[in-house]
Amino acid sequence: MTRSVPMRRSTSARARVAGLGLAFGVMFGSMLGVCEAAVPRPVHPDASTPAPSAPAPAAAIAPAPTGASTAPAGVLPLPDHALDAQLAQLDRQGLNDPDRAAQQLRLLLAEPAHAAQRAHVEYTLGRVESSAGHPDAVQRIADALQARPGGRPLALMLLAEQQDRLGQTGRAGGLAQQALQMLSPACPPPQGQSLPPGCDARVTVQALRLVARAEGARGEYAFVENSLRRALALAQALQDTNLSGWLMAQLAVNSQTRDESAAAQQWMSQSWQLAQGDVLAMSRARMYESMVASRRGDRALQQTALEEALRLARQAGARRDVAQMQNNLTDAYIHTDQAAAAVRVAREALPVLQSYNDQTGERTLRHNLSVALVLQRQFEPARREIARVVELAQGDNDPVRRAVQLRELGEAYAKVGQWREALRLYHEERALSAATAQRNRESSLQQLRLKYDSEAKQRDLELLRRDQALKDQELSNRSLAQYVGVGLAVLLGLSLVLIGVMLARVREANRKLKANQSLLRAQSERDPLTDLANRRHFLAVMDRHAKDMFTGALLMIDIDHFKHVNDRHGHAAGDAVIVEVSRRISQAVRQEDLVVRWGGEEFLVFARNVAPDQLQLLAERILFSVGQEPVPTAGGALAVTCSIGFAHFPLPPAQLALHWEQAVNWADMALYTAKSQGRNRARGIVTVEAGDAQALIQIEADFDAACSSERVQLQTILGPVQPDA
Ligand code: GH3
Ligand code: MG
Ligand code: MG
Repeated sequence: MTRSVPMRRSTSARARVAGLGLAFGVMFGSMLGVCEAAVPRPVHPDASTPAPSAPAPAAAIAPAPTGASTAPAGVLPLPDHALDAQLAQLDRQGLNDPDRAAQQLRLLLAEPAHAAQRAHVEYTLGRVESSAGHPDAVQRIADALQARPGGRPLALMLLAEQQDRLGQTGRAGGLAQQALQMLSPACPPPQGQSLPPGCDARVTVQALRLVARAEGARGEYAFVENSLRRALALAQALQDTNLSGWLMAQLAVNSQTRDESAAAQQWMSQSWQLAQGDVLAMSRARMYESMVASRRGDRALQQTALEEALRLARQAGARRDVAQMQNNLTDAYIHTDQAAAAVRVAREALPVLQSYNDQTGERTLRHNLSVALVLQRQFEPARREIARVVELAQGDNDPVRRAVQLRELGEAYAKVGQWREALRLYHEERALSAATAQRNRESSLQQLRLKYDSEAKQRDLELLRRDQALKDQELSNRSLAQYVGVGLAVLLGLSLVLIGVMLARVREANRKLKANQSLLRAQSERDPLTDLANRRHFLAVMDRHAKDMFTGALLMIDIDHFKHVNDRHGHAAGDAVIVEVSRRISQAVRQEDLVVRWGGEEFLVFARNVAPDQLQLLAERILFSVGQEPVPTAGGALAVTCSIGFAHFPLPPAQLALHWEQAVNWADMALYTAKSQGRNRARGIVTVEAGDAQALIQIEADFDAACSSERVQLQTILGPVQPDA
């Protein structure tokens, strides 16, 4: 079974990671005596999965605000030039010879001259302890630094180094970021060659290095470049060629990672220049050259540069550097089908790494060794190494790294025809990768769900809010409409009531008016003394019923010798007589006949529906009613008679039409004859010889003559016989 292309790429990537880890550690160690990072990194800087809980890259390079109260750079006194150089030397020595470096640092701590600069000596000791694989000692020193005023960034940096050594790149970057924020105010990116007083440039460079490493793990190579350039400016201001050369090599690798080969070459050649004369620095420069070659895909240069680096490290007597480069070389040999060489260098390196208590390095190396052993068909020793790797990995729950190891092993078994074992490892790797992928999917899904939920919730809330607003609007509209409706109804009701009241009042007023009018009319058409209708009323009746031609009967009545009553008994007695006579006339006529007080002691009766024979009876009744009995007055009973002239219209026999005024005149003329014949009698017109209206007018003009010539015939009805007459 041959390796697939993706496999090769992934293992090659892994090798590059290992190289990068080594490069950071070795080169920095070369300057400061620490190398903790000769460990293949489980996460490649190219990997798309960013480190968790990492700080924002922008913040990583941005200086903290100057007002930051935690900024302690000015509080802690910096080492003088001599001590600084000495500490840098011991730091560098600490990688390969930590025990001696630690011993010398403790001696420095005991010197009273360094009392004021004690913090930085302790800090350097902490780094050496970290490099020696003594986490408890590191923690103690970090606690002590933390307790000092201004010691917090140094304590944070020690803890960051410890995390980085354990492969916790992201966490290390976070701690370094915190330290950087405290250090930055006193140590801004330098302008030119001078550093501001109080700038702890070395610690700041270390913080930038760990921040850059975390940025690389997240694939943020542009930020890496920024951090490294800032660190380089500080190193150049410190006039530290080793530190500058190391940072340039870092920049070269980062440029190649970004596929900027020309820039990578330029940085690499500058780094190489600065390394001249320092064998260990040259060794490490070669190692970086190998890494750049590996990234470029130049396998041959990758191997030869690494072999040259190993030779130079041996020449420098740097045991740990040698072991770490052997570790990297093992990997390179495996990938170029040189299993025997791989086993040889791995066996050489193993005891050295163990002597440094470098368990992470040992783990990687044993894995590489196991793969090489499988390829050598030494299955039993391979199995022992595999078991040891698992043992060393106790507590390091890193499924990604483990999956890479399983894949590499499986490929090795397949390559030598061990199909069953290859299949078993393949299944194990698949299960692990599937679980990882599942977790990854789940976390992505959860992230998505959270995002969706919150968005959906926001949407729902927004919809609810809008709905509520709509309902509120609707409600207020409705209540407004109700108010308006109620208002209108009330207004309408009030208006109706008002109109009703007003109508009622108007009606009442009209009614009263009418009543008043009719009362007035009634009063105006009634005679106040006798309460009979007066002449005005009769005119109104005639106006309504007998405008053109008068029909019916008229009886004109006049009290005889009334003047005597007034003269003898007084006016009041006369009034009483008038009242009594009117009452007796009213009693004598029928209900439907109209009795009118025509003048002083004259009365007119209008009988609308009366036959001619009935008319003379009516006249007779009136005569007797008035004259039968004396009228009682205050001055005694008085005998009273009356005379009546009457006629029925139209006048017989010609039945000629007459105006009512003419008719009254005819009745009056008949009355006149009654008076002239002796009074107390009634005279009625029976016939009139007149062919037309003109003839009638002539008769009227001389009524007496007409009566004498009998053109007018009258009947006479005598009144009651009077006792005194
Ligand atoms: P005769 O009709 O029979 O020819 O005689 P007479 O005395 O009735 O004549 P005349 O008609 O001339 O007189 C009527 C008098 O009646 C004149 C007037 O003073 C009087 N008179 C008219 N109206 C009233 C009234 O309302 N009260 C009283 N007491 N006298 C009245
Ligand atoms: Mg008269
Ligand atoms: Mg009279």
